[in-house]
Amino acid sequence: MTKQFAQIIVDVPTMQTNQPYTYIVPQNMVDSLMLGMRVTVPFGARQVMGFVVGLISQTELSEEQLRPITKILDLTPVINTELLSLSSYLAEETFAFRITILQTMLPSAFKANYERTIKIIDEVDEDVRERIFKGLDEIPFKSSDFNDTDIAMLLKLRRQHKIEVTIEVHNKVKIKTQLAYQFSNDIAFLEEELEGLNKSAKKQKIVLQFILGHLGETWAKKELQEVLGLSNEIFNQAAIKKWLKKTQVELLRDPFRSEVQPTELLKLNQQQQEAYEQVVGASDTHKFQPFLLEGITGSGKTEVYLQAAQHVFEQEKTVLFLVPEIALTPQMVRRVKGRFGAQTAVLHSGLSDGERYDEWRRIERGDVKIVVGARSAVFAPLDNIGLIIVDEEHETTYKQSDNPRYDARKIALWRGDYYQIPVVLGSATPSLESRARAQKGIYELLTLTERAGDAKLPSVQIIDMKETLAQGPETNFSNELRIQLIDRLEKGEQTVLMLNRRGFSSFVMCRDCGYVPCDPNCNLAMTLHMDTHTLKCHYCGHEESIPTVCAQCGSNRIRYYGTGTEKVEAELHELLPKARVIRMDQDTTRKKGSMDRMLQKFGNHEADILLGTQMIAKGLDFPDVTLVGVLNADTSLGLPDFHASERTFQLLTQVSGRAGRAQKPGEVFVQTFNPQHYAIAYAQKHDYEGFYRQEMAIRHAGNYAPYYYTVQIQASHSEENQVAMQMLKVAHWLRLHADKNVIILGPSPKPIAKMRKRYYFQIILKFKQRHEMDKLLQELQYRAQKAKGDLQLSIDRDPVSFM
Ligand code: ADP
Ligand code: ZN
Repeated sequence: MTKQFAQIIVDVPTMQTNQPYTYIVPQNMVDSLMLGMRVTVPFGARQVMGFVVGLISQTELSEEQLRPITKILDLTPVINTELLSLSSYLAEETFAFRITILQTMLPSAFKANYERTIKIIDEVDEDVRERIFKGLDEIPFKSSDFNDTDIAMLLKLRRQHKIEVTIEVHNKVKIKTQLAYQFSNDIAFLEEELEGLNKSAKKQKIVLQFILGHLGETWAKKELQEVLGLSNEIFNQAAIKKWLKKTQVELLRDPFRSEVQPTELLKLNQQQQEAYEQVVGASDTHKFQPFLLEGITGSGKTEVYLQAAQHVFEQEKTVLFLVPEIALTPQMVRRVKGRFGAQTAVLHSGLSDGERYDEWRRIERGDVKIVVGARSAVFAPLDNIGLIIVDEEHETTYKQSDNPRYDARKIALWRGDYYQIPVVLGSATPSLESRARAQKGIYELLTLTERAGDAKLPSVQIIDMKETLAQGPETNFSNELRIQLIDRLEKGEQTVLMLNRRGFSSFVMCRDCGYVPCDPNCNLAMTLHMDTHTLKCHYCGHEESIPTVCAQCGSNRIRYYGTGTEKVEAELHELLPKARVIRMDQDTTRKKGSMDRMLQKFGNHEADILLGTQMIAKGLDFPDVTLVGVLNADTSLGLPDFHASERTFQLLTQVSGRAGRAQKPGEVFVQTFNPQHYAIAYAQKHDYEGFYRQEMAIRHAGNYAPYYYTVQIQASHSEENQVAMQMLKVAHWLRLHADKNVIILGPSPKPIAKMRKRYYFQIILKFKQRHEMDKLLQELQYRAQKAKGDLQLSIDRDPVSFM
C-alpha cells in the first residue's frame, strides 16, 4: 500500500513536457504497476502513452491537482531499471527529449500498429476463462477491451506464469509458428504401449523409445524428423495413439541461420594471451575497466574478443558485441555465430521489424548469451552483462547522425560502469580521442603489434599520380598498378580495388602539384560552390573566388576532381578484358543480402577483382587477396572537416589490411596527388603511433578535439534569409552569454547547404569548460522551441561529420 504515485514521461515531445509528471496509481493497479511499464494517462484533454519512470509514496502536489493513470499497457516492464537510468543520462548528453530516448531504446514493434495476444498456458479458473477469454485459449489483447479488475487479474495470472503475452505487429509481421509435437509424460501408459507393440512395428518402436527418453518435451516437427529420419505418417499415428500431441511453437526468424560454419578456438599467441588475461582479469575482479585494444589489421583482435566472451559465459554472464555495420561485416557475424551458435542474437537496422522484434524478445527472455549488433544494439535488453566489446571503435557509424544523436561508444562505457565490467574498444586505428584517453590512463592500452599466425603486413607503395598524368592521357590506373593487376591475374590471385568516395565531389585540386586550396583561418579544405562560383570554408564562413591558377605551383590545371565506380569499371574492362570484376557500391548493394552474396562469390574465387567504394575497406578476411589498390587517396583529404587526415589515415590503413592476410604476402599500391601528405606517409609505414603524435600536435595548434570539446549547432528553414538571420541572432546571443574563452565560428552555410527544400546553416563551438556550456545550450534549445515558426534547430555534441 506504499507506492501510490507514479512519475511518468508522457509521449509529448516538447521542451516544456520533458520531465516526469506525477499521477495517482489507482488502488487496483498498486500491486501490478512496475517501473518501465507503459501506461495511458490523461494529458490535457487527451489520453497519451507514457513510461513509468518512478514510483513514490509521497508527493508535494495536492491530490486535487493529480489525475489517475487510465490503463496499464504492458504486463511486464519493457524498459528495465538500468535502461531507465541510462535514458535520463542520455537525454542530457544528447540534448534530446527523454520520451524520444525511451522510444529509441525499443524496437519499432513497440511504437505503433501493434496487436498483442494473450494465451492461456496453464490451468486457470473456469470463470476467468469464460469471462475474460470467452472460453478460448487465446485472444487478442487490447487494453481498451478490459476493465481494471480484468487487467489486475491478467497481471496476476502473468506473474503466476499461467498466461503469456505475445506481440504481433499489425499487418506488418506476425509471429511465425511451426508445427511441433508435445510428448506425453505418462510413463506407465507409454511403457504399456511399448510392450504391446507388434514386433514388425520398428518405426513406432523408435518413436516410443525416443519419447520415453524425452518425456513431456516439445519438439519442432522439422527437428524431430531430422533426428529420427521418419515420415509424417508415423508421427500422425503417434498422435492418434496419444503418445504425443500436435502443437505450435514460435518460429524465430533468423536471417543468419543459413550455412554457418562452426569455428574452433585458436591457440592465442603471446600478445593475444596478454590482452586476454587483462580483460578477463578485470572481469574476475568485477571492475569497470575500459580497454583500448590497439591491434594492427589481422593481429587477431577478434579471437581475443571471442575467447574473453567464452570466459564471461562461464561466469553465467552475457556479452554485448558492437560492430560498425552488420551489413558491411557479414564475416564477423559468421565468426561469432560459428563460435557460439544459436546463443547469438543479431540486432541491426537492416532487419525487418518482425525479425528485430524476435531477436529483442529472445534477448529479453534470456535465451541468448551474446548480442552482436550495430549502433542501436547498444540498447539490447540484456540484464546481466559481463563484457562489452566495441569493434572498430573509430568508426563514425557509432554516432547517430540524427535525433537523438547518441554515441554508442559512450553508452557502452556507461553500461560498463553500471555493471562494473570490462569494456573493450578495439581498432587498428583508434580514434584520436580514445588514444588520448589511453595516454592519460583513463583507458588501459593493450597492443597487438604483429599479425596472427604467420601472416605479415603488406608492403605499401605510394604512386604519384601527377607523374602518371603528366606522361599520358587521363586514366584511373597508373602503370605500376596496371602491371600488378596483370601479374595477379596471371597467378590466379585476387585483388581488392578501392575508389575512395569519402567526402567525394566538391573540392578543387591542382593536377600538377596536388595542392588543395585551404582557408586561411581554419586551415581546412574549402568546398566548391558552382552556383556562386566560390570556395567556402564551412566553419568560419570565409569565401573566395575559384582560382584559375594554382597558388602553389602556378599551373592552370587546377580543377574539380572525382570519378565514379561505373567509369572505373568500364576502364578496367578495357584494360583487362579477361578479368572477372565484382563492383560493390551503393547502387549494387541496395538489395538486402546482396553484399553478403557478392563477398561469398569473391571468397569462392568466382571473381578476380573486387572493385568498391570505402565499404570494402573494413573487416574482409580473404586469404588469396595479395594486391590492394587505392585509386585515389586524396578525396578524403578534401573533406571540409578537421577529421580529414584522421579519416584518410584510417581508411588507407584499413584497406591495406585486406592484403596478405594468410601465407601469401600482400602488396598495396596507393595512388595519390599528395604523396608527401603525412596521413599517407604514416599509412605507408603502418605507423599509427607516429600519425597519432603528429595529428595531436596539429589538433593542439588548431584548438580542435581532443583538446577542445566541439559542438555543432545547426538550423534549417525553408527560406534561406530566415535561417541566416536567425542563426546570426543565435551567434550573437551566444557571444553575449558564453565565456570569452569559448570559440564561436560562424554562422555559415553547411557544405551541403540545401536538402529537401530546406536551407542549412551551422555554428561551430569550441570550448574547454563543458558544464557551463551545457547549461547555456539547454537554454538555447528551450528558447528555440518556444520561438514558434519553421526554424528547426539541433545541437550535436562531438559531431563526426560537418557535411
Ligand atoms: P583483426 O580482427 O585483428 O583484424 P582477425 O581476428 O581477423 O584480426 O585475425 C586475422 C586472421 O588471423 C584470421 O584469419 C584468424 O583466424 C587468424 N588468427 C587469429 N588468431 C590466431 C592465432 N592465435 N593463431 C593462428 N591464427 C590466428
Ligand atoms: Zn575557416
